[in-house]
Amino acid sequence: MKKIKIALPFQILIGLGLGILLGIICMENAKIGGVVVPNLKFNNLEFLNTYIKPLGNIFLNLLKFIVVPVVFLSMLEGIISMSDIKKVMSLGVRTIIFYLATTCIAIIIGLSIAEFFRNHFELLSMTGLTYTASEGKHFMNVIVDFFPSNILSPFVNANMIQIIVTSLFVGFGIIIVGKNAEPIKTLINSLNEIFVQIMELIIALSPLGVFCLISPVVAENGPKVIGSLAFVIFVAYLAYILHIFITYSIMVGGIGKVNPIKFFKTMVPAMIFAFSSASSVGTLPINLECANKIGARKEVASFVLSLGATINMDGTAIYQGVCTVFIAACFGINLTFHQIITIVITATIASIGTAGVPGAGVVMLAMVLQSVGLPVEGIALVYGVDRIFDMGRTVVNITGDSACAVCVSKMTETPKRLLKNAKITAKSKKVTAKRAKRK
Ligand code: ASP
Repeated sequence: MKKIKIALPFQILIGLGLGILLGIICMENAKIGGVVVPNLKFNNLEFLNTYIKPLGNIFLNLLKFIVVPVVFLSMLEGIISMSDIKKVMSLGVRTIIFYLATTCIAIIIGLSIAEFFRNHFELLSMTGLTYTASEGKHFMNVIVDFFPSNILSPFVNANMIQIIVTSLFVGFGIIIVGKNAEPIKTLINSLNEIFVQIMELIIALSPLGVFCLISPVVAENGPKVIGSLAFVIFVAYLAYILHIFITYSIMVGGIGKVNPIKFFKTMVPAMIFAFSSASSVGTLPINLECANKIGARKEVASFVLSLGATINMDGTAIYQGVCTVFIAACFGINLTFHQIITIVITATIASIGTAGVPGAGVVMLAMVLQSVGLPVEGIALVYGVDRIFDMGRTVVNITGDSACAVCVSKMTETPKRLLKNAKITAKSKKVTAKRAKRK
């Protein structure tokens, strides 16, 4: 009998669909097509949280386990292969400029769409709300924390930005030492190959991982979303979708010279995974694979995506813009132009400081609200359904990273003309050398 092989993106899609279905069935008083699903004898939500969620967590743990060696080794390999410290620095500067620009665009889209729908927001009552904001970090302290004081701590704590800084320094050291570091280069190359293979084995489990991660979320949040918060969620998702399909299409088509349809098609597995896991860092291994398939150069993709998973959070910036306008509207406050500019700047900084893990963005929302003097208690309004916002914003976050990888890859590519010239020069050098030998 002929075996039917389903491609991984479809398998993930099926996992997502079945997970949502199970979530709906396990919701209290669930309805499918208007028909009430009969209550099963056991507590459905408890069943999901006890048996299904842990399986999803195992999968997330495996991804977190593989992400540290993969990021460190592939970044290191990329840096060494550039064999020029200046080249690495110029790649870093371009990437950061790209990230800041797209985040500013994202927050402006978020604020504009939310202002457009502002009149529909004054729906919720504020009585009895409390939210205690955790101590916000000063921007300078965020930068100080980029630099590890111990060689092992970045790896032990899986601190992505510190791993990037470590790989930069180790890579620069190897480049400077040159020939004497050849054995280490070979070791790094083969270690990288081994860990990429392990990563592929783990990624093959993603349909099951997606299924186990999404079903408890649907069962738990479904009934809450049916309430009046649905409209704010709709506004946030509208802004996410516009940013993904307009900003990134223009970027990848115009700068990256890649057909946007091909870009989004190839990104499907990473996007679905980001949606179910709500973790940019967890999605990094899958995102790396997708970016390579789209055509981003390996050394560029590993650098740009690793950095992006920690500092580039366009979706989080959109979410902060939408929620700020929503909370202001609920308290009957109109934002002034000066406040809007402050929000753009603070949300950009806040998104840099947001970790690529579930729920990190809501903590940073406190910083944005405080910067314009809005009541932090307003966060309590959206806190209960944060996971729903989070799933969408993580999709935007990781798609932005890949779009940037494609663009930076194109921008730093050696033009074909130069490659041709280099080939001609190499050929003529060979001919001259042969002639000299004959003589
Ligand atoms: N969960 C998001 C991410 O991993 C961060 C956030 O909470 O905004 O990208």
